[in-house]
Amino acid sequence: MSTDSNCIFCKIVAGAIPSKKAYEDAELLVFHDINPWAPVHVLIVPKRHIASLADTGVADEALLGRMLALAPRLMQQLGVANGFRVVVNTGRDGGQEVDHLHVHVMGGPRPWTRG
Ligand code: 5GP
Ligand code: ZN
Repeated sequence: MSTDSNCIFCKIVAGAIPSKKAYEDAELLVFHDINPWAPVHVLIVPKRHIASLADTGVADEALLGRMLALAPRLMQQLGVANGFRVVVNTGRDGGQEVDHLHVHVMGGPRPWTRG
């Protein structure tokens, strides 16, 4: 599997950095954001290192579909009942700070810290 030894999310996938996990399967890991914007804020990441959404192609369509399809199921499991927000920051101008593809899923009662 493709990993980047300098990548913080690859280290989380490998277990070298601890995280509060919400879901895991062969391809995906979901963990709670360390600096949440909302009462529930998780990050869906592929276990394989992909730098950003801009680095995906046709071969990644199934993976991307699985990531998006997981969002409502996760929110339901985490008790989010009244809607949620899905964000994929991409590249410098897109506000991406960690260069490993991740889908933010945020929910829970407002007001939120941000967003
Ligand atoms: P970006 O700005 O790249 O879309 O979002 C990166 C997110 O990763 C931020 O919301 C940040 O709080 C979160 N994050 C950064 N480092 C860690 C970490 O070590 N553990 C966890 N759980 N989240 C992290
Ligand atoms: Zn990575």
